Amino acid sequence: MRYRIRSAALFLLISSLFLPLSGFAGQAKNIILMIGDGMGPGQFAAAWLYSNKILNKELRMVEVMKGGRTAFLANGAADAIVTESAAAASQIATGMMMTTGTISMAADGKTPVKTILEIAKDRGMATGLVTTSGITDATPAAFAAHVAHRSDETAVADQELRAGVEVLMGGRKQFFLSEVAAGKRKDGRNLLDEARAAGYVVIDTADELKRVEGGKVLGLFNMGNMAYEIDRGATAEPSLAEMTTKTLQILSRNPKGFFAMIEGGRIDHAAHQNDAAGTIRETLAFDEAVGVGLDFQRKNPDTLVIVTADHETGGMAIIGNSVDLAAIRKVQASFEVVADALGMNPTPEKVREVVKRYLAVEITDDEAKMVTCDPIWKLGPHNYAYPMMHSLAFVLRPYLGVGWVSQTHIASLLLAFGSGPGSEALVGFRHNTELFQIMKNALEERK
Ligand SMILES: [Zn+2]
Repeated sequence: MRYRIRSAALFLLISSLFLPLSGFAGQAKNIILMIGDGMGPGQFAAAWLYSNKILNKELRMVEVMKGGRTAFLANGAADAIVTESAAAASQIATGMMMTTGTISMAADGKTPVKTILEIAKDRGMATGLVTTSGITDATPAAFAAHVAHRSDETAVADQELRAGVEVLMGGRKQFFLSEVAAGKRKDGRNLLDEARAAGYVVIDTADELKRVEGGKVLGLFNMGNMAYEIDRGATAEPSLAEMTTKTLQILSRNPKGFFAMIEGGRIDHAAHQNDAAGTIRETLAFDEAVGVGLDFQRKNPDTLVIVTADHETGGMAIIGNSVDLAAIRKVQASFEVVADALGMNPTPEKVREVVKRYLAVEITDDEAKMVTCDPIWKLGPHNYAYPMMHSLAFVLRPYLGVGWVSQTHIASLLLAFGSGPGSEALVGFRHNTELFQIMKNALEERK
């Protein structure tokens, strides 16, 4: 009896949490799903303030939200309160609860679960995956691959190509090349050659991206992750917006429509390093890509655009009384560059010099010593993956006015918003598994 009362209460709780998904006249020819990896409300707010107060313009994401289709998004995984990209993206891709670390695979670790990209492909639609992280990283992988653990990136590279995804763009070329070719593949295969044989145009620079006419495209712009936006000027890599523009041009030629997943993959990475300026710049680059998606949607109203995130990273917060957006603007490089310049055991003098050179901030001797002693990292290295970076972010607080809770993911609610047919369901309080159903309904209801 107690059990029955409890189940009835649980049912009421669930039905009051989630609004019905059916009953909307969604008829989407195309779907553009845009994921800001690690883009919690803190990252969003920081980019929004920076854009309005420093760049004097509104975020394109806010433009989407002003259409009135915005939901809070919960993101818990099957086995964890605080999720990560593999489970989160797999839940968005399949509508099923997932175990952390798995890529669109059932709890047994071996049964693949069909994804929204595969459903689109079955319907004859074109498909594309784009990220600034690795194309084999968890978020893009979850849409076109099925592996027991996200670390199996050589298998992901293989599966993405075999799935025939028409546009694949991002970093981590290393998983397409054998060890003798400076890659990570132990099977000796060269997937770039195999991709060419399968009809892909293989490119690796922004110039080549401009010249690509169409057909299937494999763009791998870096052996590792693509450069942070703040460091990109010194590279030959395209921006996320440039990759998005080309992807939509190519995929929209299919008369049956397309599914594209576009990820701002390194908001998460910058936030893991507690890099305020880097995180803001990554979020703004993602916002620019959202603008490309929104402009396409306005010209092609039968397109569903969904913008969301997978989880929050680092617990980023703008601090009252000390936030200095103008100081953040003066930052010249990512914390990745700063960490490289510091090396393993820098002296306090070296810390002061590097911080001045790259971050345009003059810290004191005591503050520099705090960075070299790195007390918080020593107390809990499991929460702080990057030596010295949390301590550096801490001493920068009075200069930049941005605080960080940790270097791990945070149990923060997210935002999900969108435009076009099917986006009516992006209201109230949703769970990330429901995004799958919203996209699937939007495809099925088309005539
Ligand atoms: Zn992360």
